[in-house]
Amino acid sequence: MPTIEHSFEDNIITTTIDRVLGWARESSIWPMGFGLACCAIEMMGTGAAHYDLARFGMEVFRASPRQADIMIVAGRVSQKMAPVLRQVYDQMMEPKWVISMGVCASSGGMFNNYAIVQGVDQVVPVDVYAPGCPPTPETLIHAIETLHGLIESNEILKRRAVTGAGAQFAIQHDHSASGVIEIGGRR
Ligand code: SF4
Repeated sequence: MPTIEHSFEDNIITTTIDRVLGWARESSIWPMGFGLACCAIEMMGTGAAHYDLARFGMEVFRASPRQADIMIVAGRVSQKMAPVLRQVYDQMMEPKWVISMGVCASSGGMFNNYAIVQGVDQVVPVDVYAPGCPPTPETLIHAIETLHGLIESNEILKRRAVTGAGAQFAIQHDHSASGVIEIGGRR
């Protein structure tokens, strides 16, 4: 006589709402089209047929931040571009994610000078860093899959709830003659 435990075999799974939400989110993150320098070529290559970001529900690069969930900062960030980058990030809907692609975006790379932001984490909160100059499509896909894991487990949102990451950054415009724009100021 079969027991109720074995009546449904593999036809039933149990999970939590959080887990389903995380799975749905990580399966359909649409990227903001935001290429800043040479790294963007590798990002475009990752979206093309050979690597095929459509496998991850990411083939739709959006031209509007209102429709984008992830910003891939592909390339060096100039001081002049930093406020623009932050404004685009602010216009994206929550929950939203950031991958810093390449050494230039992550740390300024070889551009250790006054014109380049020495790490885009001074402007927006970064979730995953993709190393390299430029990172290959395989490296970017690894970063995306790492982000998927963090989204599915809700790890990032839990961390943000505790630290407030993403809320404490501010762009301070200076309209004086020097034209200096300070980034990363605390609110
Ligand atoms: S990390 Fe290399 S490829 Fe990417 S923007 Fe910098 S110099 Fe260009």
